[in-house]
Amino acid sequence: MTDRNARAAFPQGGADWEALQARMADYAAGDVDWRSGRSPLFVFKNDEATYEIGRRAFFEYFNENGLGGTRAFFGIGRMEREVLDYGLSLLNAPEGGVGVFTPGGSESIFLAVKAARDRFRARPGAPRRELNLVMPDTAHAAFDKAAQVMDLEIRRAPLGPDRRVDVAAMEALIDDRTFLLVGSAPCYPHGVVDPIPRISRIAEARGIWLHVDACVGGWMLPFFAAAGRDLPEFDFRQPGVRSISADLHKFGFCPKPASTLFYREIEDRDRAQFVADAWPSGVFRTSTLAGTRPGGAVAAAWAVLNHLGSSGYLTAARRLAAMTDAYVAGIEAIEGLEMIARPDFSIVNFGSSVHDMTAVATGLSDRGWLVTLTRRPVGLHLMMSLLHEAPREDYLADLRAAVDGAAAERRPADESLGTYAG
Ligand SMILES: *Cc1c(COP(=O)(O)O)cnc(C)c1O
Repeated sequence: MTDRNARAAFPQGGADWEALQARMADYAAGDVDWRSGRSPLFVFKNDEATYEIGRRAFFEYFNENGLGGTRAFFGIGRMEREVLDYGLSLLNAPEGGVGVFTPGGSESIFLAVKAARDRFRARPGAPRRELNLVMPDTAHAAFDKAAQVMDLEIRRAPLGPDRRVDVAAMEALIDDRTFLLVGSAPCYPHGVVDPIPRISRIAEARGIWLHVDACVGGWMLPFFAAAGRDLPEFDFRQPGVRSISADLHKFGFCPKPASTLFYREIEDRDRAQFVADAWPSGVFRTSTLAGTRPGGAVAAAWAVLNHLGSSGYLTAARRLAAMTDAYVAGIEAIEGLEMIARPDFSIVNFGSSVHDMTAVATGLSDRGWLVTLTRRPVGLHLMMSLLHEAPREDYLADLRAAVDGAAAERRPADESLGTYAG
């Protein structure tokens, strides 16, 4: 074993592909077996054909730069426009709505927060500092990141018993420095969609921007609804919704890095644009934080969307919904386990009032499953794509064994199991 803390020496060069490939495989030998559904986050898949189309399209345009989509790489530029048009239609954006292709959900959220802040500040007499945003306790940490960078206060609203945000409590947190309200579709911790129609009414009445974080569900939830699932409406049909973030690289089943951000009005996008012209090279303008962006991600998203289309996503939604129901039933069949929320999506979060869930988690980890936990309340967390369809019986058998093991012996919990990343 090499010392992971020792600095790697600058390579001499000359390694050929075979040697490099072998070394990379060696480095990755201990990776989680994600292809067999053993990772409950980080990776997503529909089926082999979709995966292969994404991979091929990515490498077809692997060296092109999305930054040059309007001046040099017209193919990428056109694919990007079409992808954004597909999203605007899917999310029922009105005429005049626009989209931005970004390298990830965190950046989509960052841009929406910036646009909302700058719109608020542009009102005559509006306070410029000590602004706050009000969001559900379950909103993604990307909002905390954006707030840290832009020096904004976050107010976290508590949840109702169904783990959707308590809208009255949310409203009580609003004051005259609140520039943004947030709802998730669905939230990452519990997989439930916040009551967007009710938040939208407050946003409209108070004249506050509502951002819907549909990073998880944006490209898939509409098909859950089409498949007959009862969901709160979360898109631009709700008049208070001014922006929506939706990741292609989650349940759009597109290769990373790919997310989208949609604005109700073009002026909103313009507020999040960065324009600089003080340097010797003249005007530099982007609608993203990133400058250079991978052309491959744009091509791959375009290809996957055209391959799957509404029929492919609807089929995936039906399979995901049935799979989720089967997991929930299997989990509830194990004595002492209970769902923390009834999921609206293929995110499952469950705990126990009798078993030590950190010990259960350790038991699953010992059986080769990567495990993540929620902390409030303590529970196991699974964000499942169709990678998780095949190993369901194996998972449930190992879960049962881990529960039995936890009941039989109390062991010190592994603190690292409650960590999302890093
Ligand atoms: C994943 C996620 C994000 C952040 O997306 P990245 O692409 O990881 O930056 C934002 N919101 C929710 C609800 C998410 O699940």
